[in-house]
Amino acid sequence: MKEKKLQGQIAIVTGASSGIGAGVAKALAAAGATVVINHPVEATQAAAQAVLEQIKSAGDKGIIYQCDVSKEDEVKKMFADVIAQFGTVDILINNAGLQRDSPFQDMTLEQWNFVLGVNLTGQFLCAREAIREFLRRGLVPERSISAGKIICMSSVHEVIPWAGHANYAASKGGIMMMMKSIAQEFAPWKIRVNSIGPGAIKTPINHQAWDTPAAEKKLLELIPYGRVGVVEDIGAAAVWLASDDSEYVTGTTLFVDGGMTLYPGFSTNG
Ligand code: NAD
Repeated sequence: MKEKKLQGQIAIVTGASSGIGAGVAKALAAAGATVVINHPVEATQAAAQAVLEQIKSAGDKGIIYQCDVSKEDEVKKMFADVIAQFGTVDILINNAGLQRDSPFQDMTLEQWNFVLGVNLTGQFLCAREAIREFLRRGLVPERSISAGKIICMSSVHEVIPWAGHANYAASKGGIMMMMKSIAQEFAPWKIRVNSIGPGAIKTPINHQAWDTPAAEKKLLELIPYGRVGVVEDIGAAAVWLASDDSEYVTGTTLFVDGGMTLYPGFSTNG
C-alpha cells in the first residue's frame, strides 16, 4: 500500500505559475508526485518559482520549466528534458489556457489562432508527447495500475455556448473530442485520458467576474450550489483522476462547477 496516492510519480502541469495550474500542482505534490511547474515565458518565471517554494516548504518535490505549449520544438524539449532528469512521465495535466474575447463580427484571425494555438494545439502537442512516453515505458504496476494518465483542463464551455467568446468555446469543444478520441485509441494500452470541466473558479483569468460583491452576486445566479469555486476544488478532482482510485474512468469530463451545467435558469421556470 502506497503511503501517498501519487507517491513516486512524475507529473507535468502546464500553465502552473498561477490559478488552477498552481493549485493542481500543489495538490499533486501533496499527494506524493514530483511536479514539473510549467510556465510560458521569462516574465512568468518568478511566479512559477514562488509556487515551487510553497511546494518545497510543505516538504514536497518539484521543478520549474519554461516552455510555450503552443510551440512544437519547445514541447518536445520539455518532455525530453523531464524524461532525461526523472526517467519518465506518469501524469500530464494539460492546463495552460487563455482568452482573447471579442464580438464575433470583430474577432481577428490573430485572436482566433492565438486562443486555438494555446488551448487546443498546445494540449495536442503535450498529449502527443505524453502518449509517446507512455507507449515507450508501458505499464509499470509499482508506479500505477494505469500506463499513464492525461487530464485535460476543459471548461463548462465545452457544452455551454458562450457569446463573445467563440474562440474560447470552440477550443474547449475541441478539447472534449480530442480527449474522447485519444481515450478510445489508447484504452487498450491502459492509458487513461479524461477532462476536468471547471465552472467559475476564482483565478486571474476571470477576476472581473467575482472581485466586487455586485459581480459575485451576478455570477452566483449561474451556480446552484451557491458559491464560487476555488482552485482546491480542482486540485482534489485532479488528484482523484490521476490516482488509481479512478482506474476504471476514461474518456469522461468531470464537471467541477457547483451545478453550472444544470441549466439553472430552468429551476424556477418549469
Ligand atoms: P490563469 O490565467 O491563472 O492560468 C492560465 C495559465 O496558463 C497561466 O499561468 C499562463 O501563464 C499559462 N499559459 C498561457 N499561455 C501559455 C503557453 N503558451 N504555454 C504555457 N503556459 C501558458 O487562469 P486559470 O483560470 O487558472 O486557467 C487555467 C485553465 O483552466 C485554463 O485552461 C482555463 O481555460 C481553464 N478554466 C478556468 C476556469 C475558471 O473559472 N478560472 C473555468 C473553466 C476553465
